[in-house]
Amino acid sequence: MSRSDHGSFRHAIPAGDDRMRRVCGDCGFVDYENPKVVVGAIVTFEDRILLCRRAIPPRIGWLTHPGGHLERGETTEEGAIRECWEEARARISIDSLIGVHTNAPAGVVDIVYAATLEEPSFGPGPESESVALYAFDEIPWNEVAFPITRWAVERAFPDLARRRRAAFA
Ligand SMILES: [Zn+2]
Repeated sequence: MSRSDHGSFRHAIPAGDDRMRRVCGDCGFVDYENPKVVVGAIVTFEDRILLCRRAIPPRIGWLTHPGGHLERGETTEEGAIRECWEEARARISIDSLIGVHTNAPAGVVDIVYAATLEEPSFGPGPESESVALYAFDEIPWNEVAFPITRWAVERAFPDLARRRRAAFA
């Protein structure tokens, strides 16, 4: 059953729980509102990084790494592979986990993989205006949509990130 199958919800602390939940007044169904999982990849081809310009809100025209919400029934790796195809028409192979980043106030858990573009073939899917490869030093950081992209790129390229920070210190 989903939320729409129930009657009117009220707020209550279910037995054995310790926080307020939305509870169906008819049957007692508890509508747990848990964080969303977002999966993505820092995709490289010959040391250059694949980034998309967003064609959808929020932040239309801004740069992001390919990623999106994990779907039920897929693994996080499968989700990252799917998102790279949907947003960047990129066939990737996953290399390693870059990291897990929690935005607790927003209720979002980002899981970002390092991945390799199998061949230099890519292009915009319906959610992207354009897709391109950038050398680390070419990335226009002031056009990057969300902090998670920079967090992941800097973790994927720690030496380059250190060198850049030293140059701007
Ligand atoms: Zn109900």
